[in-house]
Amino acid sequence: MNCIVCGSMTSSGVAPWHTTCRYCDYESAALAPRINDLASHAQLNERDRETALRALRVENFQAIVEEAIHFAQPGARSMLDVGCAHGWFLEAARGHFVVLGIEPDAALSEHALAKGLPVRAGYFPDALEEGECFDIIVFNDVIEHIPDIHAALAACRERLAPEGLLILNLPSSRGFFYKVASLLARLGMRGPFERLWQKGLPSPHVHYFNHRNLSRLVSKNGFFPVHFFELPALRVRGLMERLRFTGQSNRAILWAQYVAIVCAIPVLSMFPSDAVVCMFRKR
Ligand SMILES: [Zn+2]
Repeated sequence: MNCIVCGSMTSSGVAPWHTTCRYCDYESAALAPRINDLASHAQLNERDRETALRALRVENFQAIVEEAIHFAQPGARSMLDVGCAHGWFLEAARGHFVVLGIEPDAALSEHALAKGLPVRAGYFPDALEEGECFDIIVFNDVIEHIPDIHAALAACRERLAPEGLLILNLPSSRGFFYKVASLLARLGMRGPFERLWQKGLPSPHVHYFNHRNLSRLVSKNGFFPVHFFELPALRVRGLMERLRFTGQSNRAILWAQYVAIVCAIPVLSMFPSDAVVCMFRKR
């Protein structure tokens, strides 16, 4: 298989479904998505997941909206959120932009619509009307799930206004937790590595980038990089809900985990984060 970033031959990785490029560090997975497949959906308790992730996501989304305001062209108004899920990013952005969300998961898009958010069910760009364009297009934890990323980037170029802004928020292969999980997988413990790739979930990751190889790939598709920043993978707010979601019910163990992680957050902030945001302008 050839690397989608640099075209070199890829090598086998740390699992049978995993390949890496040793020239540009791009990683890929042969994991098939099963969105709207009831059998895989039943594995997730969506409501618990929502509570567990909400506080962290909302703070990170506010940070992204601030950067979008700073880097968008003067007068930029319209914003498209691809794969808007529960609509939290739309909620963070709608005070500043005229927002629209697209969501392929039927249950999630209905949930967001029921909250009064402007959301269309379907895939990008098919769910858009002919000629519909935006000043800003955002993908929050979405682009790493899309198998044909070249087609998605071409559609972004087509659907962005001149000098429009493309914002990609995604996991980074340089992140501390990803590096640890890769090391453990090499030692035969694949659990954390499979969890980070979301193996077995309705929509697993098919790509893992770092900001360098991602910039190279996106630049080949008619954009240039304008800004890059990291988001914290852990925040104190909402941490207890996230720990409860792991299934631990013993209160003493929960609190011990909580205290250990709160103490570790300043140390972890010295390493590259597992969540990065890369912003590009249409050439
Ligand atoms: Zn490569």
